[in-house]
Amino acid sequence: MLDLRAQYASIRKEIEEAVLQTLEKQQFRGGPIVESFEKNLAAFAEVKHAIGVGSGTDALYVALRGLGLNPGDEVITSPFSFFATAGAIVNAGGVPVFADIEADSFNMDPASIEPLITAKTRCLLPVHVFGQCARMDAIEAIAKRHNLPIIEDAAQALGARYQGKQAGAWGYASALSFYPTKNLGAAGEGGAILTNDDDAAQHLRLLRGHGMDCQCHHIEIGVNSHLHTLQAAVLDVKIKKLEEWNRQRRERASYYTSLLQQLPEIVAPTTIEDACHLYHQYVIRVPDRDRVQKELHEKGIGCSVFYPRPLHRQPCIERLLKAPAYCPKAEQACREVLALPIYPELTQTQQDAVIAALAELVPA
Ligand SMILES: *Cc1c(COP(=O)(O)O)cnc(C)c1O
Repeated sequence: MLDLRAQYASIRKEIEEAVLQTLEKQQFRGGPIVESFEKNLAAFAEVKHAIGVGSGTDALYVALRGLGLNPGDEVITSPFSFFATAGAIVNAGGVPVFADIEADSFNMDPASIEPLITAKTRCLLPVHVFGQCARMDAIEAIAKRHNLPIIEDAAQALGARYQGKQAGAWGYASALSFYPTKNLGAAGEGGAILTNDDDAAQHLRLLRGHGMDCQCHHIEIGVNSHLHTLQAAVLDVKIKKLEEWNRQRRERASYYTSLLQQLPEIVAPTTIEDACHLYHQYVIRVPDRDRVQKELHEKGIGCSVFYPRPLHRQPCIERLLKAPAYCPKAEQACREVLALPIYPELTQTQQDAVIAALAELVPA
C-alpha cells in the first residue's frame, strides 16, 4: 500500500545529516531548527503563521480550544474523515454535528451545512479529504453569513488548492498532520496549526505550551504539545521535495484513471472544478467492495478502506449527538470506497499490476 523506504532511500544523506546535526546540538524542543521549519512551512502553505505541535490531532484540538467553546456548542463537520476530527471537537468541549458529503469529492457538501446551523453553532470544520479541498468558496460564504469561524482539517491536503488558494489558508486556523503516511511525513508523530491571524497565532502558541505567557506564569490551561526538534529537522529536508512529490502523485493518479477507463463498473476519483487535487489517497468506488478488497489482498495487492464507518456511527460519538445525523451519501461512500496504492515512487509497472489484478475481479 505504501513503501516509505523508497522515499527514504532517495533522501537518506540529507536526512541523516540533519538528524546528526540536531543530535550534536542536543536541543530537543524549539530552537532554530523548529523556527526554520515553521517559517518554510508557512511560506509553502502561503500563510502568515505555522505553529508546530505534536500531532494532527493536537493541531485540531488546540485550534478548537482557541475558540473557547462552551458546553453544548456545536461544530459542523464531515462524517467522512479520520476519527481525530470528531474526537478533537469533543475533547475541546464541543458537540459534532455532521453534514453529508458530496458524492464526487467526498467532502462536506455546502448545501447540507446551512440547514444544520442553530443558535449553538460555533464553527464550521471542513475536512479536505484524500488531498482535495472542500468547496471553500461556498463554505466561506456560509461562514460569513452566520459570522462563524472556519477551522480546516487539512491533515491530508498540504499543497492542495481551490480557486488558486491553498488548503489551510481559508480559515481562522487549520490543522496539518505529519504522520509518516501523510504527503509530508515525519519520522514519527508531528503536526502544525496554520493561521493568517496574528492574535490567533499568539493565543494558539500559548495554548500549546501550558498557557504560559512568561516563565512559570500560566494564564490559561493549555496542553504540552510541540513539534520535536528532531522531527522538524527531518521535515525541513522533506518540505523542499513536497511540490515535486505532490506532482508525482498527480501523475500516478491520472495514469490510474486512464487505465480504469477499461473498467466501467469502477468509478475513478474526480477532481472538482477549480481544484488542484494532490491525491493523498486514490480512492475508487467499486461494487461488492468487501469481496474485491479481500481478493486483492489474496493476490498480494495492497489496498485499504478509508473509511469503513462514518463518524456519526462510531459508538462513542453516536451517543453524544443531539439528533441523529442524516448522511446517506457518506454511508454509501463507506460501503463502496477502496483506496489503491499511491505514492511518488510507485512505478507504472506496479500500477499496471494493481489494475490487472482488479480487472480480474470486476466485470469488464
Ligand atoms: C491523519 C489525520 C488526522 C490526525 O493526524 P495525527 O497526526 O494522526 O494525529 C486528522 N484528520 C485527518 C483527516 C487525518 O487524515
